[in-house]
Amino acid sequence: MRKIFAVISITLFFMLCSTSFSAATDLESMITEMEVKYGKCVPVQWGEELDGIVTRFETDSKEIALTLDACGSKRGSGCDEELIRFLRQENISATLFINARWIDANPDFFLDLANDPLFEIGNHGLLHKPCSVNGRSAYGIEGTADIPELVGEIELNGVKIEDLTGIKPYFFRSGTGYYDEVAVQIARDLGYIIAGYSVLGDAGATFSREKVKAALLSSRPGDIILCHMNHPEGDTAEGIIDAVPLLIEKGFTFVRLGDKVVK
Ligand SMILES: [Zn+2]
Repeated sequence: MRKIFAVISITLFFMLCSTSFSAATDLESMITEMEVKYGKCVPVQWGEELDGIVTRFETDSKEIALTLDACGSKRGSGCDEELIRFLRQENISATLFINARWIDANPDFFLDLANDPLFEIGNHGLLHKPCSVNGRSAYGIEGTADIPELVGEIELNGVKIEDLTGIKPYFFRSGTGYYDEVAVQIARDLGYIIAGYSVLGDAGATFSREKVKAALLSSRPGDIILCHMNHPEGDTAEGIIDAVPLLIEKGFTFVRLGDKVVK
């Protein structure tokens, strides 16, 4: 009798609990699993093009993928509405890598983008940290300190996006795009494809209009272009608007990463 009561109590407890409880439980078990598997590994590599990072895709036609990062933070939570308007007007697909802090700063715009089939949402991390298992930095930005922080950096934004859109992203790009090789394996074990890039489109939205245009015009079939959609004050939109008609004239079409790179 006591056993039946216990089973009913546990069932009711789980039924009454919010999804955040199960998400927290999932996170804890993921951390434990990764610590058991990788806890003794000491990384020796650090970079943007390690094995396991997808920097280009296979294609036999003139297809390229435009990816746009939205990094968040006080200075990085802008919305390049001119750029998004242009992409919609020209029917240009893109994959948008969105950080949790950017979502919090732009909740309505985020949902507007997520509901548009032209775009695909990727995970750009919780706090925009380079992915490390021992706190290695890139561009002065401290990386995740250990496996628990790394798993949280990836998974908590993945769950946030899933809660808001009903779809869990399966592309991940870290803040700064840097990883050690253990972090790459962990992100892959968590179910993500890691999206690097082959064309540096705007260097963190610091390129001039001409430089953005030239970078995009250097694209070859199968390239992944990295630009930003969170700095409307920069020249990214202008450079893309200059380059896209010329790329279309050359016969290029734009794809979302998910159209070409599958798990
Ligand atoms: Zn970023």
